[in-house]
Amino acid sequence: MHNSVVVADLWGSQGGGGGGWEVNFRRSFHDWELDEVTRFLNHISAVKVQEWEDSLVWKIERRGKFSVKSYYRSLKDENSPFFPAKEVWGSHAPSRTRFFAWEAVWGKISTVDGLMRRGWSMVNRCILCKENEESADHILIHCGKARELWTLLLSSFGVLWVFSASVRNLLLEWKIKGLGKKRCAVWRMAPICLFWCTWGERNRRTFQEEEMSDTSLRNLFYRSLFEWSQQILILDYLTFFNFLGDGLVD
Ligand SMILES: [Zn+2]
Repeated sequence: MHNSVVVADLWGSQGGGGGGWEVNFRRSFHDWELDEVTRFLNHISAVKVQEWEDSLVWKIERRGKFSVKSYYRSLKDENSPFFPAKEVWGSHAPSRTRFFAWEAVWGKISTVDGLMRRGWSMVNRCILCKENEESADHILIHCGKARELWTLLLSSFGVLWVFSASVRNLLLEWKIKGLGKKRCAVWRMAPICLFWCTWGERNRRTFQEEEMSDTSLRNLFYRSLFEWSQQILILDYLTFFNFLGDGLVD
């Protein structure tokens, strides 16, 4: 299909009432694309075009009016086992940071690789390590700067971890037994906090041309995790660290 095609171009009246989709593809498909094409055709076959004037309708709400609340609910309802909906939306992290984590899962944060895919021509260098190319998975998991925070986090919980390649899998696999309810809640918001702080430093360097020292970034991360935890725990800053490293309970 051509980019500029509109629904009316693809909807044929097919004589006598009714009407149906008349979709022509620009090229033939590869084997591995057939499933997706079938899904697409099934998906549109369930939709019938009615011939009156167009208007914008927000389908999630019955009255068709957009609301942030319904948008948030629709994200929460993303029940696919392949997306860490529970891990993101069920966490106690502040909501804008959960939105950020969710966007990172979907590859929607504006990293250089994403801009290049959209046709921008630019040099792709991670501003944190200046060694690798920048992508969401790199910055948030594999970059040396993020790794320092990950190492610190895991050592304060006293656990070893094998890292997944992607943000999505990392969150899906971010489970540990025997932490107890409250430590488990901190454990669950920790990756989101780490993403948030690392991304903040990336933006500071990109847009404000300022840099935090490694020590300040570590402190910021711990301080944030501590503050986020205040809604479920009443501990002072020092006891918080002892609490994290309390060892697993059986
Ligand atoms: Zn890097």
